Amino acid sequence: MTEQKKEKSRDFNQLLRDNGLKVTPHRLRVLDELTHKNAAVSQPDLEKTIGAEIDRVTLYRILSSFEDQGIVHKIFDLQGTATYAICNSDCRKDHHQDQHVHFICSVCNSVYCLDEVPFPYIPLPKNFTLHALALNAVGLCENCQKEE
Ligand SMILES: [Zn+2]
Ligand SMILES: [Zn+2]
Ligand SMILES: [Zn+2]
Repeated sequence: MTEQKKEKSRDFNQLLRDNGLKVTPHRLRVLDELTHKNAAVSQPDLEKTIGAEIDRVTLYRILSSFEDQGIVHKIFDLQGTATYAICNSDCRKDHHQDQHVHFICSVCNSVYCLDEVPFPYIPLPKNFTLHALALNAVGLCENCQKEE
Protein backbone atom coordinates (compact mmCIF):
# COMPACT_ATOMS: atom_id res chain seq x y z
CA MET A 1 0.00 0.00 0.00
CA THR A 2 2.76 2.44 0.91
CA GLU A 3 4.54 1.54 -2.28
CA GLN A 4 1.44 2.37 -4.26
CA LYS A 5 0.94 5.68 -2.47
CA LYS A 6 4.48 6.66 -3.32
CA GLU A 7 3.91 5.62 -6.89
CA LYS A 8 0.81 7.77 -7.11
CA SER A 9 2.56 10.87 -5.92
CA ARG A 10 5.40 10.46 -8.39
CA ASP A 11 6.49 13.49 -10.29
CA PHE A 12 3.68 14.51 -12.63
CA ASN A 13 6.02 16.48 -14.87
CA GLN A 14 8.06 13.36 -15.44
CA LEU A 15 4.97 11.23 -15.88
CA LEU A 16 3.69 13.48 -18.67
CA ARG A 17 7.06 13.66 -20.40
CA ASP A 18 7.57 9.90 -20.15
CA ASN A 19 4.28 9.47 -21.95
CA GLY A 20 5.05 11.91 -24.71
CA LEU A 21 2.72 14.63 -23.46
CA LYS A 22 3.67 18.25 -23.07
CA VAL A 23 3.57 19.52 -19.49
CA THR A 24 0.72 22.05 -19.25
CA PRO A 25 -0.89 23.60 -16.16
CA HIS A 26 -4.23 22.01 -17.12
CA ARG A 27 -2.79 18.54 -17.40
CA LEU A 28 -0.99 18.91 -14.07
CA ARG A 29 -4.18 20.18 -12.48
CA VAL A 30 -6.18 17.16 -13.65
CA LEU A 31 -3.49 14.73 -12.44
CA ASP A 32 -3.43 16.47 -9.09
CA GLU A 33 -7.20 16.19 -8.78
CA LEU A 34 -7.16 12.51 -9.76
CA THR A 35 -4.68 11.66 -7.01
CA HIS A 36 -6.34 13.62 -4.22
CA LYS A 37 -8.30 10.78 -2.68
CA ASN A 38 -7.69 7.07 -2.80
CA ALA A 39 -10.83 6.46 -4.84
CA ALA A 40 -11.38 7.03 -8.56
CA VAL A 41 -12.79 10.43 -9.54
CA SER A 42 -15.84 10.73 -11.77
CA GLN A 43 -16.02 13.09 -14.71
CA PRO A 44 -18.93 15.08 -13.18
CA ASP A 45 -16.91 15.48 -9.96
CA LEU A 46 -13.94 16.73 -11.94
CA GLU A 47 -16.19 19.19 -13.72
CA LYS A 48 -17.46 20.40 -10.35
CA THR A 49 -14.03 20.89 -8.80
CA ILE A 50 -12.03 22.24 -11.72
CA GLY A 51 -14.76 23.33 -14.11
CA ALA A 52 -14.04 26.98 -13.39
CA GLU A 53 -10.44 26.58 -14.57
CA ILE A 54 -10.79 24.04 -17.35
CA ASP A 55 -13.77 23.90 -19.69
CA ARG A 56 -15.58 20.64 -20.39
CA VAL A 57 -14.17 20.06 -23.85
CA THR A 58 -10.59 20.57 -22.70
CA LEU A 59 -11.16 18.32 -19.71
CA TYR A 60 -12.60 15.63 -21.93
CA ARG A 61 -9.61 15.86 -24.28
CA ILE A 62 -7.14 15.68 -21.42
CA LEU A 63 -8.85 12.61 -19.97
CA SER A 64 -8.99 10.78 -23.27
CA SER A 65 -5.34 11.55 -24.04
CA PHE A 66 -4.39 10.31 -20.57
CA GLU A 67 -6.36 7.15 -21.23
CA ASP A 68 -4.71 6.62 -24.64
CA GLN A 69 -1.26 7.08 -23.14
CA GLY A 70 -1.78 4.61 -20.30
CA ILE A 71 -1.80 7.25 -17.57
CA VAL A 72 -5.36 6.74 -16.33
CA HIS A 73 -7.96 4.02 -16.74
CA LYS A 74 -11.70 4.39 -16.86
CA ILE A 75 -14.12 2.52 -14.62
CA PHE A 76 -17.88 2.83 -14.84
CA ASP A 77 -19.66 3.22 -11.52
CA LEU A 78 -23.07 1.74 -10.69
CA GLN A 79 -24.86 4.56 -12.51
CA GLY A 80 -22.73 4.02 -15.57
CA THR A 81 -20.80 7.26 -15.00
CA ALA A 82 -17.18 7.25 -16.12
CA THR A 83 -14.69 7.50 -13.27
CA TYR A 84 -10.94 7.76 -13.67
CA ALA A 85 -8.05 6.34 -11.68
CA ILE A 86 -4.30 6.67 -12.13
CA CYS A 87 -2.73 3.58 -13.69
CA ASN A 88 0.11 1.59 -12.29
CA SER A 89 3.47 2.27 -13.90
CA ASP A 90 3.26 -0.79 -16.18
CA CYS A 91 0.61 0.76 -18.41
CA ARG A 92 1.82 1.97 -21.78
CA LYS A 93 0.31 3.72 -24.76
CA ASP A 94 -2.58 1.60 -26.10
CA HIS A 95 -1.72 -1.13 -23.63
CA HIS A 96 -3.28 -1.03 -20.20
CA GLN A 97 -2.24 -3.56 -17.58
CA ASP A 98 -4.73 -2.69 -14.90
CA GLN A 99 -5.69 -6.22 -14.07
CA HIS A 100 -7.19 -5.53 -10.69
CA VAL A 101 -10.52 -5.74 -8.96
CA HIS A 102 -12.60 -2.57 -8.72
CA PHE A 103 -14.71 -2.14 -5.63
CA ILE A 104 -17.80 0.01 -6.02
CA CYS A 105 -19.64 1.20 -2.91
CA SER A 106 -23.40 0.82 -3.26
CA VAL A 107 -24.04 3.72 -0.87
CA CYS A 108 -21.60 6.49 -1.83
CA ASN A 109 -20.85 5.11 -5.32
CA SER A 110 -17.09 5.49 -4.82
CA VAL A 111 -14.85 3.34 -7.01
CA TYR A 112 -11.65 1.89 -5.54
CA CYS A 113 -8.79 0.14 -7.30
CA LEU A 114 -7.92 -2.95 -5.28
CA ASP A 115 -4.41 -3.65 -6.51
CA GLU A 116 -3.59 -5.99 -3.67
CA VAL A 117 -6.52 -8.36 -4.22
CA PRO A 118 -5.36 -11.28 -6.39
CA PHE A 119 -7.13 -11.51 -9.70
CA PRO A 120 -8.79 -14.86 -10.32
CA TYR A 121 -7.55 -17.16 -13.03
CA ILE A 122 -10.16 -17.48 -15.76
CA PRO A 123 -10.05 -20.86 -17.49
CA LEU A 124 -11.04 -20.10 -21.06
CA PRO A 125 -12.26 -22.56 -23.67
CA LYS A 126 -9.61 -23.84 -26.04
CA ASN A 127 -8.61 -21.37 -28.78
CA PHE A 128 -9.85 -18.35 -26.86
CA THR A 129 -7.40 -15.59 -25.98
CA LEU A 130 -7.98 -13.19 -23.14
CA HIS A 131 -7.23 -9.51 -23.79
CA ALA A 132 -9.04 -7.80 -20.98
CA LEU A 133 -10.93 -8.73 -17.89
CA ALA A 134 -13.09 -6.44 -15.79
CA LEU A 135 -14.09 -7.44 -12.32
CA ASN A 136 -16.28 -5.21 -10.17
CA ALA A 137 -17.01 -5.99 -6.56
CA VAL A 138 -20.03 -4.17 -5.11
CA GLY A 139 -20.58 -3.54 -1.40
CA LEU A 140 -20.02 -1.11 1.45
CA CYS A 141 -16.83 0.92 1.58
CA GLU A 142 -14.89 1.69 4.74
CA ASN A 143 -16.45 5.13 5.24
CA CYS A 144 -20.04 4.00 4.72
CA GLN A 145 -19.49 1.01 6.99
CA LYS A 146 -18.58 3.38 9.83
CA GLU A 147 -21.67 5.50 9.37
CA GLU A 148 -24.05 2.58 9.67
ZN1 LIG B 1 -3.81 1.48 -17.22
ZN1 LIG C 1 -19.18 4.21 0.48
ZN1 LIG D 1 -8.29 0.57 -11.23
